Amino acid sequence: MIKFLDLAKVNNRFRKEIDERLTNILDKGWYLQGEENDKFAEHFAEYCGTKYAIGVANGLDALRLIIKASGFGEGDEIIVPANTYIATILAISDNGCTPVLVEPDINTYNINPDLVEAAITPKTKAIMVVHLYGQAVKMEKIWTLAKKYNLKVFEDAAQGHGAIYQGRRTGNLSDAAAFSFYPGKNLGCLGDGGAVVSNDKELIDKVKALANYGSDKKYHHIYKGLNSRLDEIQAAILDVKLPHLDEDNTRRRVIAKYYRENINNPRIVLPQTYDEQAHVWHVFVVRTQERDRFQQYLTDNGVQTIIHYPTPPHKQLAYQEWNNRSYPITEEIHKTIISLPISPVMTDDEVKKVVNIVNAYE
Ligand SMILES: *Cc1c(COP(=O)(O)O)cnc(C)c1O
Repeated sequence: MIKFLDLAKVNNRFRKEIDERLTNILDKGWYLQGEENDKFAEHFAEYCGTKYAIGVANGLDALRLIIKASGFGEGDEIIVPANTYIATILAISDNGCTPVLVEPDINTYNINPDLVEAAITPKTKAIMVVHLYGQAVKMEKIWTLAKKYNLKVFEDAAQGHGAIYQGRRTGNLSDAAAFSFYPGKNLGCLGDGGAVVSNDKELIDKVKALANYGSDKKYHHIYKGLNSRLDEIQAAILDVKLPHLDEDNTRRRVIAKYYRENINNPRIVLPQTYDEQAHVWHVFVVRTQERDRFQQYLTDNGVQTIIHYPTPPHKQLAYQEWNNRSYPITEEIHKTIISLPISPVMTDDEVKKVVNIVNAYE
C-alpha cells in the first residue's frame, strides 16, 4: 500500500542525530525552558527571517497567544477564512473575539483578498490569513487594507513552513505568525509543538510571559497567563530537522510538479500555484465530483488518502450558531476535495504508481 504519509520513514532519516540530542538531554536532566529551546528559537527565527521566535506547546496555542498578547477580546472582530482548519477559528473565539468568515478563492483555496474589504467593520481589529495546504496567501491586497483601516495582520502558518512570497518566508509577512510542529506538518516533532514568530519585541515578550503563567520572571506574574511551553526534547528534535526543511520542501515540489504534469484524468481538478516558491505542498489537494467513490477506488487500489477537511467549521456542532449560514465556495471545496499522498520520503516509483492509478479512474 502507498501510505498517505510514512512518518516513521520521515523521522528515521534523523535517528542518529536525534538519539545523540536525547542522550544529551537525559544526561543533563533539564527538560523545559533551556538551551534546546533557545537554540531552536534562534534558528527558526533566522529561517523565517524574523527577529524573534518562541516555542510554545502547539499551533492552536500559538494562535491563541498572538491574539491574547495583542490585547484583543470581547467585542473585537477578526477576519478569517471560512475555508480553514477549525483551529484558526477556535483561537479567535477562545479569546472572546468574533470570527468574521470570508470565502476563499476556488483556485488557491486561500482567503479571497477581493472579499476582505466588505467584511471590515468599525469593530475589526485584525486579519488572520491561513497559508492553507502550504501555499502562501497573496498578501499585497491584505497589507493595503490593513494599512488603510489600521488593522493587524496575523498568519496561521501551520501548513506553510518555508513558503516564500515576494522573497520573504511565511512568518515574516505579518505582525505575528503561528506555526504548528504537529508530526504531520512539513516541519514536525514527535508529539505536539508550536511557535510564534514576529519582528515585534514587545509582542514576543508578552507571548513568552503569557505562555509561562503570565510570568516575566519566576514567581512574578504580570498577566493572567497559561502554561504553553515547547519542551526541550521536542525543541532538540526540531533543531535537528530544521536544516533539512528546504530540501524536503524541494522534494515535495518535484512530486507536485510531476503530479500536475502527468495526471490527466478529466474527472480530476488539479491544484494551481501562482509561483513555484510560494507553495510547499503540505498536502496535494485535488477536486472531483463523487469524491467518496474516488476515495474508495484509490483505497481499493492501494493508495491511502485523507480529506482536508470533510466538514467546514461553520457546519460543525461547535459553531451551531452558524450552521444555517451558507458559504457556497467553502462548502463546494469541502464536498469535492481529496488529498493524494505527498511527502519527502515517497519514492519515484510510488509517485508514478499514484499517477497511473488516478489516470485509470473512470
Ligand atoms: C495543524 C493546524 C493548526 C493547529 O496546530 P496544532 O499544533 O495541531 O495545535 C492550526 N491551523 C492550521 C491551518 C493547521 O493545519
